[in-house]
Amino acid sequence: LKESYDVIIIGSGGSGMSAAISAKDAGLNPVIFEKMPVHGGNTIKSSAGMNASATKFQAEQGIADSNELFYNETLAGGKNTNDPELLHYLVDNSGPAIDWLDTMGITLDNITVTGGMSENRTHRPSDGSAVGQYLVEGLYANIMEREIPVFVNSEVTEIVMTDDKASGVKVDFNNEGEITVSSDAVIIATGGFGADFDMVTELAPQLEGYVTTNQPGSTGDGIKMAEAIGAAVVDMDQIQIHPTVHQESSYLITEAIRGEGAILVNQQGERFVNEMETRDTVSAAINALEEGYAYLIFDAGVKDRVKAVNTYIEKGFVQSDETIEALAGQLEMDSATLAQTLTSWNETVASQVDGAFNRTTGMVNPLAAAPYYAIQIAPGIHHTMGGLKINSNAQVISTEGTVIEGLYAAGEVTGGVHGSNRIGGNAVADIIVFGRQAGVQSASYVQSME
Ligand code: ADP
Repeated sequence: LKESYDVIIIGSGGSGMSAAISAKDAGLNPVIFEKMPVHGGNTIKSSAGMNASATKFQAEQGIADSNELFYNETLAGGKNTNDPELLHYLVDNSGPAIDWLDTMGITLDNITVTGGMSENRTHRPSDGSAVGQYLVEGLYANIMEREIPVFVNSEVTEIVMTDDKASGVKVDFNNEGEITVSSDAVIIATGGFGADFDMVTELAPQLEGYVTTNQPGSTGDGIKMAEAIGAAVVDMDQIQIHPTVHQESSYLITEAIRGEGAILVNQQGERFVNEMETRDTVSAAINALEEGYAYLIFDAGVKDRVKAVNTYIEKGFVQSDETIEALAGQLEMDSATLAQTLTSWNETVASQVDGAFNRTTGMVNPLAAAPYYAIQIAPGIHHTMGGLKINSNAQVISTEGTVIEGLYAAGEVTGGVHGSNRIGGNAVADIIVFGRQAGVQSASYVQSME
């Protein structure tokens, strides 16, 4: 550990690691402080993929997407409450971010669809596996290659200001007491507050009693520390619940499973919603069921296309049987009803017209290959859309509306880009695009001081 660095990055999730790599490549000496014993944050748990438009992989696969469509669909998903400047920056830089990752050996060329989008836009690892683990491993390998120091068990407790400029942090290494480490710039990449139940229920009392998919380190530290030095926050009460969480384990079941063809049924064995609607709509439909839960139903084809299913099987989340009737028996569901639901669904896939719920995506393959599978799910706290107010240079904005010099933020700790409802796959886009930007902008700031 040195007494001073060019830039201190708080948090080792996707945004912190992207920021560190960009800062280093722009000529700075960065350091990462991570409070948990391991790097990776919530990013390591992310499953669906990274949304990006007009990418080279989409072009190669003949997918007719555009930045304009990505922008408009994200804005519609966020109910027109997204910050337009941030959203434009996200969308316009999503394709270049896919290329940037690719140059670092992180290739996201398997493209699927998730709720709230009309074109295949969710970029995954080539084998269709969950994005988080792959991304964190790839970014960390690049961190190591560049010899960027990462200190774990290092909790930042305060951002130090000198002459109204961020000038370092107080950090507690291994619970041994705080010391001050100085720097010319600080990047806050501490993630959201979805694991801080007090903070969540104070802002959104209706979420009392919900499980959370978040890692224990997601406690809003960056928001609290920046507010203490005058930072503004936005959309703090906008907390996303994810519709498909395995309740006993709080484990999120990836949206890619629906994107690749799964349906949702209630305890009667009937569909009840357009499964590809946005997360808020699908969650509300599940909560409106008398039983308060639902089943994802899929076949061997979906299992083959979504590698995460193997993990769910290993963890014991999945029930399966050779026929749909036998599966219904296991679920204590009327077998004729579930069989009829599947028959009508397969007719819908064939005709491409969902008269019942108007689903239009994730209906390429019928559910017709044995064995059949079911996972019982219900909503859980997933993502905190609100957070620190930033501009498109990733600079933190004060409650007075001015830039706080030397202070940058990226990723889930920030608010505005997703508005009141985040589209699945946009968080990974957010952390890579704004993590890079925070690294690049902090570098030009630090270099302008010299
Ligand atoms: P993002 O997706 O925005 O990158 P993540 O949740 O993946 O966010 O990563 C944020 C990381 O920041 C987590 O690993 C978390 O443990 C870490 N973190 C949170 N608060 C602090 C803190 N006070 N000091 C150091 N690290 C922190």
